[in-house]
Amino acid sequence: MSKWTDVPLQASDEEDRSKYLLSVKEGVKTMTGPGVKTVDVSEITQAVRKLAMNTTSNVPMGAINALEQASLQEESPVGKEVIRQILENHRIAREERVPACQDTGVAMLFIELGQEVRLVGGDLYDAINEGVRQGYIEGYLRKSIVNDPLFRRVNTGDNTPAVIYVDIVPGSDIRITFAAKGGGAENMSGLVMLPPAAGVEGVKKFVIDQVRQAGPNPCPPIVVGVGIGGTFDRVALLAKKAVLRDVGSGNPHPEYARLEKELLDEINKLGIGPQGFGGRTTALSVNIEFAPCHIASLPVACNLNCHAGPHDTIVL
Ligand code: SF4
Repeated sequence: MSKWTDVPLQASDEEDRSKYLLSVKEGVKTMTGPGVKTVDVSEITQAVRKLAMNTTSNVPMGAINALEQASLQEESPVGKEVIRQILENHRIAREERVPACQDTGVAMLFIELGQEVRLVGGDLYDAINEGVRQGYIEGYLRKSIVNDPLFRRVNTGDNTPAVIYVDIVPGSDIRITFAAKGGGAENMSGLVMLPPAAGVEGVKKFVIDQVRQAGPNPCPPIVVGVGIGGTFDRVALLAKKAVLRDVGSGNPHPEYARLEKELLDEINKLGIGPQGFGGRTTALSVNIEFAPCHIASLPVACNLNCHAGPHDTIVL
């Protein structure tokens, strides 16, 4: 006898009864019927493949607009010329469908999975990695992942495994955000566990010092992602999500939005300038994400993106 037992839900008439079946297996209950969207994971593979192949040649328009604005305001002639060349580089990448930079990065996938979605056809993580594999091979994108970080460092040959985060959210959509995170900017990340008494000034000092020490390495003009709060592990993810927010999209909380502007002003007074050649355009945007934290903690993380910073989203 099957371990599965089909039991009709309470329903007002026979039609409703036929639409809903409650399956009970060792105390675990699942329901199928209207309101549950079934998605084969092969669709996710294809979406990730498409994102990988298209995103690296399409620098987000928010960054392009900010670069165009910066080229008008930059006072350093060399800085102005560097921004012009960066914009030209991004135009060619878009029109000729080639990556905006040779470093096509670590494939980072942020999945917002609607809780009314039922995935079929295989393992979600395998499906995502298959999309990365196909996209990087078919798109002739540089493969940058080594299988062991310390001893062997052998390239995996297809840019897998991807770094994957899955959040369960309300609804029946699957929102897939892909980012190709270049190593130069990623290497300039930092994290500190400040005492709460360090306050706003402590946060500002850490972020500004981080950008100053990074100098030309993250290929400025940069986007500065700042995470504040949470825990040691969570604050790094906050900073990573912040750096992927659109350039110039201010934090909805007015105090954090003000802090973003203050930090941007102070960073652009450092004089690092486009590609480190000097000038006022060191950063295009400072994006902050924050979360509640322990009474004894004030975690702060800083994650940087270069002017390319390709990322894009598909909703299934
Ligand atoms: S930081 Fe950005 S622009 Fe610079 S090498 Fe890396 S991916 Fe390319």
